Amino acid sequence: MAMTGVLRPGHAQVRVLNLEESVRFYRDVLGLVETGRDAQGRVYFKCWDERDHHSYVIREADEAGIDFFGFKVLDKATLEQLDADLQAYGLTTTRIPAGDLLETGERVRFELPSGHLIELYAEKTAVGNGAGLVNPAPWTQAREHGIGPVRLDHTLLYGPNVAEVQKIFTEVLGFYLVERVLTPDGQGNAAIWLSCSHKVHDIAFAEYPEPGKLHHCSFLMESWEQVLRAGDIMSMNLVNVDIGPTRHGVTRGCTIYAWDPSGNRFETFMGGYQPYPDYEPITWTFDNFGQGLDYPQRKLHETFLTVVT
Ligand code: FE
Repeated sequence: MAMTGVLRPGHAQVRVLNLEESVRFYRDVLGLVETGRDAQGRVYFKCWDERDHHSYVIREADEAGIDFFGFKVLDKATLEQLDADLQAYGLTTTRIPAGDLLETGERVRFELPSGHLIELYAEKTAVGNGAGLVNPAPWTQAREHGIGPVRLDHTLLYGPNVAEVQKIFTEVLGFYLVERVLTPDGQGNAAIWLSCSHKVHDIAFAEYPEPGKLHHCSFLMESWEQVLRAGDIMSMNLVNVDIGPTRHGVTRGCTIYAWDPSGNRFETFMGGYQPYPDYEPITWTFDNFGQGLDYPQRKLHETFLTVVT
């Protein structure tokens, strides 16, 4: 099999200020499927076309932001190998027992030099997308509720030491650099987009003085028309919209950035190209950051640089 190691983004756990208001938002406006609640009060969601039990978990807290972001790996042997590799690289890993997250196996957790907690896991119950595995319909009623994204696609995280983060993802976890924005002096990277797959990014980081910050979690839509429809639904529900609908120069993704009721930014996204690991990274100079962010408007929106949770 060509695809081994780290397979894909698997879950994000995000803090919200009011649980039930957030459940209504994520279930009825974003249109995720609620799949469970646990003894800690966490609420679990999946996108309609995802097959595993959940991809987005919310927890009530005094401050918004992200607790951790998890990647699914191929199997348990891969999990053991990557844990050993992370430790050999000099990182401290901890084990979270199976069942801590509902329907999820043991997780290997480590902290990045950017202050973010990243997890790897090999097992999560496959609940399916509701269409079955024999002669399936192309979609289910769940797609028709709210914005209805297909899957959790990627995250963009803000924190310090992005150069060290890049080394961990590329040298230990098997990711490759797809695109980057240079710092104003051209000597380093202000932001990086990394892939573990054929997707234009699975995770991205931007250099920022405060550690552990969330810029956005991104949800994949099937078409540009679906992104525009997402914008309609945002306006019907008076959602706070940040940028778009527009297209990023970086990744060529078509996008809307908006905020959940707690101020956590999320993205409805489609498109981009499909890179391979042998591709040379694409570089954006800092003076073209505006085109990188919003290609038609060529505007480096202030909120992109300053508003994080
Ligand atoms: Fe994004």
